[in-house]
Amino acid sequence: MGKDDFRCIECNEKASELHRDYSNGILKITICESCQKPVDKYIEYDPVIILIDAILCKTQAFRHILFNTSLNIHWKLCVFCLLCEAYLRWSLLHGSKQSSDPADIIRYTKEWEFYSMFGLASLELWAFCGGVLCFLWLVVGLLQSRPLELSLLLRGLLLSCYGKVLLIPAVIWEHDYSPLCLGLIKLFVLTSNSQAIRVILNSSRRLSLMAVCVGLLSETCVAQACKKLPWSIQDVLTFD
Ligand SMILES: [Zn+2]
Repeated sequence: MGKDDFRCIECNEKASELHRDYSNGILKITICESCQKPVDKYIEYDPVIILIDAILCKTQAFRHILFNTSLNIHWKLCVFCLLCEAYLRWSLLHGSKQSSDPADIIRYTKEWEFYSMFGLASLELWAFCGGVLCFLWLVVGLLQSRPLELSLLLRGLLLSCYGKVLLIPAVIWEHDYSPLCLGLIKLFVLTSNSQAIRVILNSSRRLSLMAVCVGLLSETCVAQACKKLPWSIQDVLTFD
């Protein structure tokens, strides 16, 4: 990271370093010139505490992760979450069709249905991210003429989807998931997405919520289109 690439987690002011090494084994945490607080107190904290603060949607924890670390697991995390979601949908698809027909058992082993679910989940995720980024590009980039770091926003959106990992318990305890539980996971992911946008743009809560709503609308439209279109994947899957 170069000069002024860090941010003060308290006031969002740019900073050139998080700590100073006095070469005799003494490390001193940098104090922000603007707010007189440590630029990033989390560099001394245990990752578990940072994670807890991120789960609580604390602005400081989000600033630490997005600006002051080079955490680069967003693509891996994205694929992992999509696999969990695909498995859940795949299980639900078969759970709704109770049959003792041996042909069904053979079909159950066909992996392509799982890949179709993975494709659908990926499509919906990209529709969500596309909707959010287009909205922000229009409102922030064009109307407010502020520079928009699309790659940072995409990284923030993908990282803040980490709540989808909660689908794993739903996958493990197959019959225990309920629409309420899945709804709460969705709500948590959307709240994290909104907080990530708010932190990256240093914007109002209203703007980030609107961006998330546009993303959700775009995702829902794509999901509905996939169900309604004549070549619907769902129809192909349920074709007997
Ligand atoms: Zn500060």
